[in-house]
Amino acid sequence: MTNAGRGGLLDLVERDRVHECDGYGPAGLCVRVVGVADLPTRVGRFQIVAFWNNRDAKEHVAMVHGDVMGAEEVPTRLHSECLTGDVMGSLRCDCRDQLLEGLRLIQSMERGILLYLRQEGRGIGLINKIRAYGLQDQGLDTVEANLALGFRDDERDYAVAAHMLQSLVVKSVRLITNNPNKISQLEQYGVKVAGRIPHVIPPNDYNKFYLETKAKRSGHYIDMEGKPHLAEQSDPVMVDGMDGPAEENPAETDARGRPTGPA
Ligand SMILES: [Zn+2]
Ligand SMILES: [Zn+2]
Repeated sequence: MTNAGRGGLLDLVERDRVHECDGYGPAGLCVRVVGVADLPTRVGRFQIVAFWNNRDAKEHVAMVHGDVMGAEEVPTRLHSECLTGDVMGSLRCDCRDQLLEGLRLIQSMERGILLYLRQEGRGIGLINKIRAYGLQDQGLDTVEANLALGFRDDERDYAVAAHMLQSLVVKSVRLITNNPNKISQLEQYGVKVAGRIPHVIPPNDYNKFYLETKAKRSGHYIDMEGKPHLAEQSDPVMVDGMDGPAEENPAETDARGRPTGPA
């Protein structure tokens, strides 16, 4: 049965027709819910929620499972768009595995949200990302390629995400992340983060990428041929049994990204 029409998310479109606020973050970013529809997928049924924003033409969406409006401790994953990985199945990155496993994880729970943020290539855009790939093909090392790729504008990410969650009337979230530092970044925009769900997934045919790679240095996976891959998502998932990637704060998590001390 459909959830879209029963006084749930669909009502948000009407509510947001006149929505205006001071905005989130230094840029004063504001979003409106402008479209809601059922979206059956290969990993289960979702509702997809489309957002307009007042800063650029990027069309962010939320994949919603279960009743999230007014709910506490909603499992929430942030994913940044990657056309080459998500759509084309590129093995230069692990984005597709992250996306599908994130959706599967959310689907396995009572409710959950995946925010799909349209920030390709760490926010530098598809063209620049392809150029950086090209530079790597020509022999640039990962440090140089990293410089070419630039760094994600995290602050902007979290402002968008925070407003999207507020628009969905989520009272608090449990952030699906292997990086405890992400929590405070979301909290600074007023999102109540009730906890963290480590994103550790079992090995299977679909995450072969991980099994053939080993994390060596911060942000880089080194594959069997010794070729470096950049971690394009700010927060990689981990496969049970693989060597852990270098963490931004290794002291707080073990090799599987699980916390070793108090969160
Ligand atoms: Zn607003
Ligand atoms: Zn990618």
